[in-house]
Amino acid sequence: MRWISWSRVNGRWISGSRMGRSRIRGRLPLRVSSLILLTAFLLHGASSEKRLAVYSTAANYSLPVVQRDGRDYVGLLELLDPLGAVNAKAVGPRWRLRYNNVFGEFTAGQSHARIQGRDFDLSARFELDNGRGLVPVASLASLLPRILGGPVTLHEDSARLFIGNIATHFTASVAGDDPSHLVFRFTSPVNPTIAAEPGKLRMTFTREPLTAPASPTLTFGSTSFPSATYSENNGAAEITVSTTLPLMASFSNNGRTITLGPASVQQTAATATRGSIAAQPTANSAAPQTSTVIPPQAAAASASAPAIARRYFAVIDASHGGDDRGETLSTTLAEKDVTVAFARRLRQELENRGISTLVLRDSDANVSLDDRAFYANSFHAAVYVALHAASSGHGVRVYTALIPYGSDDRGPFRSWTTAQSSYLPVSETAAASVATELKKQNVPVRALSAPLRPLNSVVTAAIAVEVAPQASDVAQLMSPDYQQLVVSAVANGIAAVRDKLGATP
Ligand SMILES: [Zn+2]
Repeated sequence: MRWISWSRVNGRWISGSRMGRSRIRGRLPLRVSSLILLTAFLLHGASSEKRLAVYSTAANYSLPVVQRDGRDYVGLLELLDPLGAVNAKAVGPRWRLRYNNVFGEFTAGQSHARIQGRDFDLSARFELDNGRGLVPVASLASLLPRILGGPVTLHEDSARLFIGNIATHFTASVAGDDPSHLVFRFTSPVNPTIAAEPGKLRMTFTREPLTAPASPTLTFGSTSFPSATYSENNGAAEITVSTTLPLMASFSNNGRTITLGPASVQQTAATATRGSIAAQPTANSAAPQTSTVIPPQAAAASASAPAIARRYFAVIDASHGGDDRGETLSTTLAEKDVTVAFARRLRQELENRGISTLVLRDSDANVSLDDRAFYANSFHAAVYVALHAASSGHGVRVYTALIPYGSDDRGPFRSWTTAQSSYLPVSETAAASVATELKKQNVPVRALSAPLRPLNSVVTAAIAVEVAPQASDVAQLMSPDYQQLVVSAVANGIAAVRDKLGATP
């Protein structure tokens, strides 16, 4: 498993009627200056559900915030889960937590807790909700260092939590040679949602630990860009640029530089064609029934050939591969090899159930995340299953995409990073069915949503299945018995809902 950094995708707003051939060619490590068309979008408010954004070196993710007695709470197990080996058990009113080698004990209705045998006071009562331990968000800055053993910074008002010394800083200045261009430089790659309205351009960063500049208001001494402001709200950071120009944004320096400059009509038309990825040229773009897909092979063979790929019901993606080894599971075992082994078995199990299946990576090849999504979409599969392996945790985790909020499709344009949105219900159906079948085999299983690429870019039911050993013996991941146990349950889960999955074109 490799948790994503959203910042590595150049999330482009796109239009046009053909699908992503440029994606396939775009395997260059640097996607230099991909242009974004900005003029037509309206600013939307972010989704109203409150979430806590968590940034750490292990993972960037977000969790739902729930209200108890007017206070904000989050599930402690869910919060710790991406960070290390964690489990919890409720016994009556007591809730015992183990994170790596740290033990904690909490009691429903009490603010008093014990961590590693020492007292700890929460800012409000601990809550137990169907065995799920909830702690007040306000306590996280003091509670988490006791569990994680390192520094934690909480921006409580904006619901952003920074674990460890992790932060992306930025500077902004007018280009020295051209005052009509404003250049943002970031210390790490970024991939904001960008929206524009007359006089304003807003960049929203939900997946990046962007931190405030010295002053929240920036001025540039430029008539084109009177000022910019930095703010944080509901798990996101925003930079709003006031401007007198219709603007385009271009990304360069591997996502570390964003340049805003004037847009011309000719430029924007050219960009729309060149940057097109997934096409939904209709106002109601929720369903992709009308999208035309040209797989690169067909396009290369004959530009005029009808763009019909063989239809596979399931696409199995053996995650990682080539230079990307995935997690180093042991001195001799790389995740990329485990995922291929699982993928081949899963294909066999699905085929045995009459489900036509393609394995996306059946060799030790480099395949980019964007290309994986592109291939999955090209084949019009009814379900996409990414396979991962992990040394930590027990059993299987089944993930559906966590779509970055506040980056919904706008007008006729669809966002590559949120293409999965309208398929989430069917993805969740698939995930639930797979989890049910795993449970029947007594494999510990959890169903989660996570910002795990490329799930968010897949336009069909999409899940990721991450397999960890049942106990702690990593070698079990290569055990034929264990592999077979897991893949046959996954195949059963998919077969059980095949009618529901098949409903999409
Ligand atoms: Zn992985």
